[in-house]
Amino acid sequence: MVLSSHQYAPIDLHCHSNLSDGVLSPAALVSRAAANGTQLLSLTDHDCIDGLDEARHKAEVLNLFFLNGIEISVSWRNNVTIHIVGLDIDPSYTPLIQGIIATRSGRLERLERMHHELSKAGIHGVYEGALSHANNPLLVGRAHVARYLVQIGLFKNMHAVFNYYLVPGKPGYVPYRWATLTQAISWIRGAGGIAVLAHPGRYRLTPALMKSLLEDFSAAGGIALEAGSASHSLDEMMHYVNYAKSFGFEVSAGSDFHSPSEDAVEVGFSPLLPSSCTCVAQRWLP
Ligand code: AMP
Ligand code: MN
Ligand code: MN
Ligand code: MN
Repeated sequence: MVLSSHQYAPIDLHCHSNLSDGVLSPAALVSRAAANGTQLLSLTDHDCIDGLDEARHKAEVLNLFFLNGIEISVSWRNNVTIHIVGLDIDPSYTPLIQGIIATRSGRLERLERMHHELSKAGIHGVYEGALSHANNPLLVGRAHVARYLVQIGLFKNMHAVFNYYLVPGKPGYVPYRWATLTQAISWIRGAGGIAVLAHPGRYRLTPALMKSLLEDFSAAGGIALEAGSASHSLDEMMHYVNYAKSFGFEVSAGSDFHSPSEDAVEVGFSPLLPSSCTCVAQRWLP
């Protein structure tokens, strides 16, 4: 069968609460996923594990299979920002806790610099504006800035913002030194978790650079590629499914849900992977 668009499975190994840049509380997010019929859910906030207790508690009440997760921000080869999802982590592992505190510690200062850069481009009030959208100021980021730019009427939606601002080469982009790939994967592995390369299609790497990234990811102990992502077309999903096969990685999938009004894919769902894949979700499904 040839598919022209994604079909979806009731599994979600990547989503965000308002402890990072999502808009729903962990409990509301889990309730929504359960109402959507999810079988397996992981909350993966950016550089933050503070929502996991609330999410797990709600999942237990609703009898939903829940995994502790995280999405760690990484600077690969110094200047390429990538994201590593960690699944089934032990959130009490001290090096992970200390590592993510250090990784996120410059976010407020980064926001000040974004404020300064955007004011040079004629956009004012970014510092306060972004913080007004951030439930957790420690995790303030580009999504909160983007919501402010939508709020003041500059753009129709968040995705449009990232076509013109906040990305490398555009106004408002501020380079930042996140964790290294080796650090992020060692924290995840040390916490007993599975390291997943999040949305590889988002990085727009040349084939040669993607190959180097996958080699580094494998050498550091990475396990799976997130081929099933709302960021990927069907072609891109198949492209990364094939990469996973040739590199010996498992395959993961998630919604990367942030908000009921911003995302095409609902929390609790992810693009259906081909049945020939070795899916990371099989580790936890009955
Ligand atoms: P930060 O961690 O502050 O660099 O922000 C990264 C976040 O910005 C991502 O997790 C997304 O929530 C959001 N983001 C980045 N690029 C895009 C995009 N093209 N469209 C929508 N949201 C994006
Ligand atoms: Mn995000
Ligand atoms: Mn991401
Ligand atoms: Mn994400």
